[in-house]
Amino acid sequence: MGARRASEDNGRRIGRRALIVGGAVAATGTAVLARDELARLWWRVPGVEKPREQGAVDFAGASWVAASEANWRRADRPDDYGIDMVIVHVTQGSFDSAVRAFQDPGHQAASHYIVGQDGRVAQMIRELDVAYHAGNRDYNERSVGIEHEGFVDRPQDLTDEMYEASARLTARICARYDIPVDRQHIIGHVEVPGTDHTDPGPHWDWDRYLKLVRRARTTLRT
Ligand SMILES: [Zn+2]
Repeated sequence: MGARRASEDNGRRIGRRALIVGGAVAATGTAVLARDELARLWWRVPGVEKPREQGAVDFAGASWVAASEANWRRADRPDDYGIDMVIVHVTQGSFDSAVRAFQDPGHQAASHYIVGQDGRVAQMIRELDVAYHAGNRDYNERSVGIEHEGFVDRPQDLTDEMYEASARLTARICARYDIPVDRQHIIGHVEVPGTDHTDPGPHWDWDRYLKLVRRARTTLRT
């Protein structure tokens, strides 16, 4: 699950926007052009969003359960932030307790998806949006977060059904954003810089998972 508080993530929003607009101003040279450019970008960057349909999911096998709006930030990915990473988590609790946590505005963290031990998939945040799951602003902005039901010290929690459903989901995400299926782009929460989380833990079988993702990814091409 996510570690850092959502407020930290929110506090630096304006900074990035100023950076984008500021860079364009520097490139244009004259004040008039700068003003035009500023107006155009100001319209384009924060204002235009892709359509959002109530209850729509990004993964056909998922059911939609909305997370609290306190646990994610509205965005327009991959246009405002590119997506080049999938981050794997283990919940340290049941499927239902993870759903409840992500619906709780006080939790200040949530992932895009939760995969259950029976293979069911809930989507709680759109891939368009930035979920607070990695405890690292940059990694949150560039990744899709997937929680898996279970505890890091219980290998029996990592079921075949869970691996397979999660691999299909990750394969679809990799296909959608052209993300390479490798360990540089599919990582564990434990590998996020600055995190104090250990999930998905020592029992998560990366070789097996990547093999399943690659197999599912191949099927998607044909
Ligand atoms: Zn985690």
